Formats: sequence, structure tokens, C-alpha cells
Amino acid sequence: MKDTFKHQGMRQQLVETLVKKGIKDQNVLAAIGKIPRHLFMDSGFIDHAYQDKAFPIAADQTISQPYTVAFQSELMAVKRGDKVLEIGTGSGYQTAVLLELGAKVYSIERQQELFKKTSKFLPKIGYRAKKLVFGDGYKGLEEEAPFKSIIVTAGAPFVPNPLLSQLEIGGRLVIPVGEDIQIMTLFIRKGPKEFEKHELGEFRFVPLLEDKN
Ligand code: SAH
Repeated sequence: MKDTFKHQGMRQQLVETLVKKGIKDQNVLAAIGKIPRHLFMDSGFIDHAYQDKAFPIAADQTISQPYTVAFQSELMAVKRGDKVLEIGTGSGYQTAVLLELGAKVYSIERQQELFKKTSKFLPKIGYRAKKLVFGDGYKGLEEEAPFKSIIVTAGAPFVPNPLLSQLEIGGRLVIPVGEDIQIMTLFIRKGPKEFEKHELGEFRFVPLLEDKN
């Protein structure tokens, strides 16, 4: 588990690519410049870790494209100490970005294999989430609500109501909505029943799956 000068150099190039593609949040760029993405990937793909692409991980899932991670993180507008919820822990890369931003992170994963692997891996490289949960993200995490922001890292066919209701007032839900292609959607909770909705372009994610347990 090495992080070499070569890796660091490639990471800086990735950061420059993200700047060119329009990412502005300096804290997000710094997090991506710091996190050794190659350690989150299966060995066969390590050489490609600093390309701005999604790659396969275990259980037929993917580590999201760095641009997507940066775009979603920017929309969350994380401040140090924010309590945030992630749906779809996957490789833990997005989790690590949120931790670098100073958030208290709760993250849910429904694939047991990934849940186990990532629960072991993240602390090994120094990333401590508040709680990693094996469960169904459609339900959110009622016992820890409300959250300052919630990020969904899989394509949701619809917006799950529990996620909206677990936001604090002023809180933000960042969720790609759609079946084959998803529209990145930001909801800002303005009041108990009022939400502002912004649609921010097309993305492609693996699907947010219904509970199989
Ligand atoms: N944030 C991850 C992205 C992984 S891809 C990363 O950076 O690597 C999306 C993840 O969502 C997959 O791991 C998938 O297993 C998980 N997922 C799909 N449906 C889910 C659900 N209903 N609840 C929680 N996680 C889910």
C-alpha cells in the first residue's frame, strides 16, 4: 500500500483536469489531490487510478468518476463538522473525500462484500467514518437524522421520501435521478414541507437497488 511521487504527480494532473472541467471548490480539489485513489481500486486497474473515469470494484459495482465525486461534493457545500449521510459506500473513495472535508460521515452500503471490505480498509489508511452501516439506503438512517447533507452515489429511479425528511432545514440532498441516464438533482430544504429543486445535468451511475434482504 504505497503512495509514491509518481502517484502524487498523476494526482495533481487529475486535479488540473477537474479544474478544466469546471470544479472550483478548493477544499474538494485539495481532498482529491490528497487521497490515494489507487488504493481504493482492484489491483488490475491501479495503473488507471488517476484517469478521470469510473472503474469496476467488487460485487459488480464501480468507483465513481473523480469528476462526478468532485461535482457532487461541491454541491453538498460541506463545512467542517457537518453531519452527512452517504448512500452507497462502495469503495469508500467518496467517504474519504467527505472526511477530508471535515464532515462527520455516516455511510450505508447494501452489498455485504463491499461493506466488509471497505469497513476494514478505510481505517487502515486513516479514514474514520462515524458509522458504516450494512443496510438499505432507500430508508436513510432515521436514528441519526437530521443531516446537514445527504449524497446518493447510485442512480435512483425516484427520490426516496425518507432522504428528504431526514434533512435539517437548510440541508441539501444531492441525488442522481433516473433509470438509464440520471439527472443530477439538488434539493435544498427550505422549511418542514418546502424544498427547492435544482437540476444540474446528465450523469450515469450504477442503479440504486431495492432491498434484497
Ligand atoms: N461512493 C462509491 C460509489 C459506489 S457505486 C465509491 O466512491 O466507490 C454505488 C454503490 O451503491 C454500490 O456500492 C452499490 O452496492 C450501492 N448501493 C446500491 N443500492 C443501494 C442501496 N439501496 N442502499 C445502499 N447502497 C446501495
